[in-house]
Amino acid sequence: MSGQAPRLPIGGSAARGRPPPSPERPRSVTVLGATGSIGRSTMALLAERPKLYRVEALTARRNVAALAALARAHRAKLAVVADPGAYRGLVEALAGTGIEAAAGEAGLIEAALRPAEWVMAGIVGVAGLAPTLAALGRGAIVAIANKEPLVSAGPLVLETARRAGAVLLPVDSEHNAIFQALGGAAPDAVERLILTASGGPFRTWSLEAMGRATPEQAVAHPNWSMGAKISVDSATMMNKGLEIIEAERLFGVPEPRIEVIVHPQSIVHSLVAFTDGSLLAQLGAPDMRIPIAHALGWPSRLATAAPRLDLAAVGRLDFEPPSEHRFPALALARRALRRGGAAPTILNAANEVAVAAFLARRIGFLDIVRTVESVLESLEDAPTGSLEAVLACDLEARRLAEVRIGSGHPTGDR
Ligand code: NDP
Repeated sequence: MSGQAPRLPIGGSAARGRPPPSPERPRSVTVLGATGSIGRSTMALLAERPKLYRVEALTARRNVAALAALARAHRAKLAVVADPGAYRGLVEALAGTGIEAAAGEAGLIEAALRPAEWVMAGIVGVAGLAPTLAALGRGAIVAIANKEPLVSAGPLVLETARRAGAVLLPVDSEHNAIFQALGGAAPDAVERLILTASGGPFRTWSLEAMGRATPEQAVAHPNWSMGAKISVDSATMMNKGLEIIEAERLFGVPEPRIEVIVHPQSIVHSLVAFTDGSLLAQLGAPDMRIPIAHALGWPSRLATAAPRLDLAAVGRLDFEPPSEHRFPALALARRALRRGGAAPTILNAANEVAVAAFLARRIGFLDIVRTVESVLESLEDAPTGSLEAVLACDLEARRLAEVRIGSGHPTGDR
């Protein structure tokens, strides 16, 4: 493989010497985004193993009832709502428990800085960037489901991890599969990474039909139960585009060697092609508890109650090439990655705004990718070397996406 090498586990030698959790040495954990789809699966795994884990801090945006219930059940030390308007409700919900409450951006950073050995990055969107950097910056083991910070600020995230001797473990099912399939392979033995994609709910739909798709249809993923934003990303296949960028960041494999193949059953979670012609894959039921447990137990494995794969019952595994014509987000994300610099930051920010606008019924389904493309084409490169620079670039892309959406001309043409 030319030049670059698979990098995981991020942290290299720092990853060694991290003991697995045990009753003699329980692992302290913090869950950022505890009330979300990833967060709830993580909390369920923790609840099954009270002797192995201690909960340090939990965060949410504004779902006070769910956050307070989790904090009470797990005897967390700190609970944080990102929305300052939800703070009073949180304090009331935790009254008499001794659990500390905090709010806002500073509260999220505080949660990430508390001395938990293991942190789940489970916030959705670039909102998770600052707390993820804070956790990495103090050398934690960070299980990263929250792909947007890797897309938007990949070099900064990796550099922060490297400098602090942190460990970055991929939780996104495809990247976790690749992490597992890579094993201890020598970098020059890896030829290609093959990301599988379910194809989402509109895999077989015509462009015309997709033009009329509703938010309800877009979030109804055939195989996975996930939050609204990633579900819409799966429907446009921008999710797979973001994952190409995520894979390039995590594994150091150049973009032309990262392939995408549609696999509607979501049983094969991704593959590594080696130079000798071998393909290694990780298979399992489409259940996020499996990759989360892999990261939670790492470097050991945890038993889970996830459904067991019965291959005879599955019967067949289908694969087909993705349609770049009906799913232009794939080529767009590749273009952003090749352009480099701020392009992935712009792509991600415009996509977050466009997905929110689609969910709010302000734009049609096909306008999501049109908006992203138009914003990406319109903005020049910008610095992305620091958190402040990334967030400034992100803000500018959001502003332009809002202008495009507000004008009723997502492409910028009239
Ligand atoms: P959800 O929308 O279900 O949950 C998001 C979590 O983040 C909630 O706890 C939410 O709090 C919190 N949150 C939302 N916005 C903010 C904000 N601005 N500031 C702080 N916290 C916030 O998302 P998912 O769990 O589906 O996804 C989380 C991340 O994991 C995403 O990046 C996604 O791409 C990735 N991922 C998800 C998978 C899945 O199966 N769900 C699979 C692979 C990756 P509240 O409940 O109060 O709104």
